[in-house]
Amino acid sequence: MWFFLFILTLAAIIGLHFWWRAKFSAQAERRAAEIETSQRKQQQTSLDAKAQQQVLFNSMLEGLLLLDRSRKIYLVNRAFKNLFGLKTELRGKTIVEALRLHELDELVQRVEAEQQVLDYEIKLPDLNERWLQVNAAVITNAAGERDGTILVFRDLTRLKQLERTREEFVANVSHELRTPLSLIKGYVETLLDGARDNPEVAERFLKIIERNANRLDLLIQDLLTISALESEKIKLNLQPVELRALAGKVLTDLNAKAENKNVELVNDVPELTANGDVNRLDQVLANLVDNAIKYGRAQGSVRVGGKKLDDGKVEIFVRDDGPGIPPEAIDRVFERFYRVDKARSRDQGGTGLGLSIVKHIVQAHGGEVRVESELGKGATFFFTVPTA
Ligand code: ADP
Repeated sequence: MWFFLFILTLAAIIGLHFWWRAKFSAQAERRAAEIETSQRKQQQTSLDAKAQQQVLFNSMLEGLLLLDRSRKIYLVNRAFKNLFGLKTELRGKTIVEALRLHELDELVQRVEAEQQVLDYEIKLPDLNERWLQVNAAVITNAAGERDGTILVFRDLTRLKQLERTREEFVANVSHELRTPLSLIKGYVETLLDGARDNPEVAERFLKIIERNANRLDLLIQDLLTISALESEKIKLNLQPVELRALAGKVLTDLNAKAENKNVELVNDVPELTANGDVNRLDQVLANLVDNAIKYGRAQGSVRVGGKKLDDGKVEIFVRDDGPGIPPEAIDRVFERFYRVDKARSRDQGGTGLGLSIVKHIVQAHGGEVRVESELGKGATFFFTVPTA
């Protein structure tokens, strides 16, 4: 009987043991699985955060450079690599090793002393002059100790170029205005000092004054046109324009000038209709024909012609048989105030803005300008405009 009871209790204990084990091991497995899932989730979240961070950094237009506390590169974004034209892994390198920019290394040392440096400009030692703006600050940890440095770079090259163009423009305009103005002043003073008493001299001086006043007037008109065209204030009044008739009108307007130089004017433009602003296209043709007469040869000829292109545009050309344009000037003649021969242009009453105005008007029509020339064999200016 006792023995039987003992066996029964033992069996119960063993059963209970297995039951608990099964229960606990299921629980333990469940716990382990839960821990694994949560770890995987955490890992995934951290990976997601890292990926998001990378996407964020790489979507920045500014170049980003993070240095650790020993001034070694910890992280850079895509814009940074593009700015410096780098493709290799930079992590762990110093600024000097990675970029060979001692100036930047010195800047980092300054940042460490001053906590941050803003709007620092740095010129890269490239062949093409490039400028970067650098904003830099020290990163500190919760205890306020320096943990690293962050540098943000912005490409200033275009801004610098615009600034330089503006400065050059102001300098050019001042110079162009000053020349006729000082001539006018000089001759007026001479007249007032007594030259007016000699009618012949007075007449000659007054003519010079008149010529220079006209030049000033022309210059101001051209400047206003350029400024209006550049700020897109001029709205084109688009309508069908008969190009042969327009060329005929322009040649008639400039006939007297051509006759003075014995230049023959020929209208070879076929019957073509453009979609354009008639007054602006008149200005384009007038500038080109005027130049062809001015810079062409005496007793030469100026021909205006054109044809329809396949892309729905018409191309008009103005050709002269003068001395032409030297190859190095071909790409520059459409720039404001660029002249191949300054003295010659001024003698002819040129402002140096004619071709720039032509370019702006043609581009406003969605067309293009170009010039072909061989020294001694004349020049041909081409422009395209949409057909009606
Ligand atoms: P400008 O007022 O001096 O004529 P433009 O902008 O009209 O200014 O022309 C710029 C320069 O291009 C001129 O000064 C001249 O040197 C050159 N150029 C323009 N047209 C011709 C041409 N048909 N033949 C030779 N040179 C030309």
